Amino acid sequence: MAEHNAIDQARDGLTEQLARQRAAFEARPVPLSRPERLQRLDTLADALYTHRHDFCEALNTDFGGRSVEETLLLEIFVLIDEIRHTKRHLRKWMKPHHVMPNWQFLPSSARFIYQPLGVVGVMGAWNYQLLLTLSPLVGAMSAGNHVMVRPSELAPVSAELMKRVLANCFTDDYVSVHTGGLEVSQAFSTLPFDHLFFTGSTRVGKIIMRNASEHLTPVTLELGGKSPALVGDDYDVASAARKITHAKLSNAGQTCVAPDYALVPQAKKQAFIDAAGAFAAKLYPSLADNPDYTRILSADHYKRLQVITDEVRDGGGQVLQCNPAGEDCNADNGAFPPTIVHDCPADSVALTEEIFGPILPVVGYRSLDEAIAYINARPRPLALYYFANDRASRRKVLYGTISGGVTVNGCIYHLPQNNLPFGGVGDSGMGAYHGIDGFETFSKKKAVFFQSRFSLTRYMRPPYGKLMRFLLGFVLRNRPGFEKIPPRARGGQAKPSD
Ligand code: NAD
Repeated sequence: MAEHNAIDQARDGLTEQLARQRAAFEARPVPLSRPERLQRLDTLADALYTHRHDFCEALNTDFGGRSVEETLLLEIFVLIDEIRHTKRHLRKWMKPHHVMPNWQFLPSSARFIYQPLGVVGVMGAWNYQLLLTLSPLVGAMSAGNHVMVRPSELAPVSAELMKRVLANCFTDDYVSVHTGGLEVSQAFSTLPFDHLFFTGSTRVGKIIMRNASEHLTPVTLELGGKSPALVGDDYDVASAARKITHAKLSNAGQTCVAPDYALVPQAKKQAFIDAAGAFAAKLYPSLADNPDYTRILSADHYKRLQVITDEVRDGGGQVLQCNPAGEDCNADNGAFPPTIVHDCPADSVALTEEIFGPILPVVGYRSLDEAIAYINARPRPLALYYFANDRASRRKVLYGTISGGVTVNGCIYHLPQNNLPFGGVGDSGMGAYHGIDGFETFSKKKAVFFQSRFSLTRYMRPPYGKLMRFLLGFVLRNRPGFEKIPPRARGGQAKPSD
């Protein structure tokens, strides 16, 4: 009851805010011009740069230890670079696109134009609080929308800072930020936005889509899942192990596109585990006092990871923890040691649920077909990584599996590409953004047809006569089995064939 009251109360405030932003959007006789959009994107980039240290500090507090370099590189830099790319290409993206009308309609003309949708809702996730909330904001702003932003309540310090910084950049009828507890998210996802963009788990993604369906609000769902790293037989196993380990341990594995598990040729499994363990120790010679090693967000998240490893151990699997300095790592200091697990029970959480932490299950395979079948027997992943030199096997994996995106011979790097769409498929999500895909996601691509005074269409209206029948005969002449149009019956009905 109390929970429902809290949600209703949050909804009232949010509904008022949505009405205010929608009125501001509709009061504009024409959409925001390109210079206006560019100026606002500049304001956002400047604010991110000016407050970069504040954001690093805020995220450090939220995580109880977040690598400053990772915040600067993986959030601030990527965002500023995306804004730079957007500014450079916006003129081209906004242009009406002329297309050829069907020949029967010549000399009419056709084009499509992009229009802002109106007021867009953006819900982010805590693991990259800035990137996942502000990158969709960049897409929505570039398309000319007004935006209501909902950062994750699980990283409240950075959420409050984001609210203050954006309030200084923009009027609140253009961009508003909504902080507060879970009830705010619950209410937010029920609002009749013109588009709702959500980043988070598959479980919550289903709730979001259900809530949005009430108003037929279109959704983009950026979800998670188990992204495999498949090591081909012809690839240097130690090199693959190093790349996978690095990607897995960034942000302590709390990355949607982190390689979730490694599929390695059975004969090379031990070599892979040795190389991954050694590289983890090299990257992080200490853990608890290491500012490079990001902490697990909360004690609950930490305990979940402990349960995952305990289950593997109890089920007869192997657990290898890399803690070179032999420190006390626990839920209080949040440092979860890089961990490799193998020979896990098939039904263990390590092999069935997204891990979202620095635990890497290693699974052996005997043939590439078996590895592909293993991937395809599971929900479609957000990302897939394949390490191979042989072009034929790359082709086989690229076309034989379905995932949101792929990096070949590396991990994660398809994500920051400004010219590639980013988004999942099936359980890992729907829709895409980044660069032009973000612009298109937040725009209505509207078909416009300019009818010319002269065209064949003027002969295609009743009373249908010989000319119409001649034209029909002409346009249908090449269909298999076409002989001639059946004779007309009285009343305009074609006679049923005898
Ligand atoms: P989550 O699904 O628990 O929470 C995400 C958001 O949903 C939060 O803002 C939260 O407030 C909101 N939420 C939670 N319960 C809700 C409810 N009942 N009704 C409405 N809103 C609700 O996810 P998380 O723990 O924040 O993030 C981890 C998950 O997100 C992982 O699965 C990860 O793979 C995924 N993720 C995906 C991407 C991507 O780009 N595809 C990026 C980051 C994280």
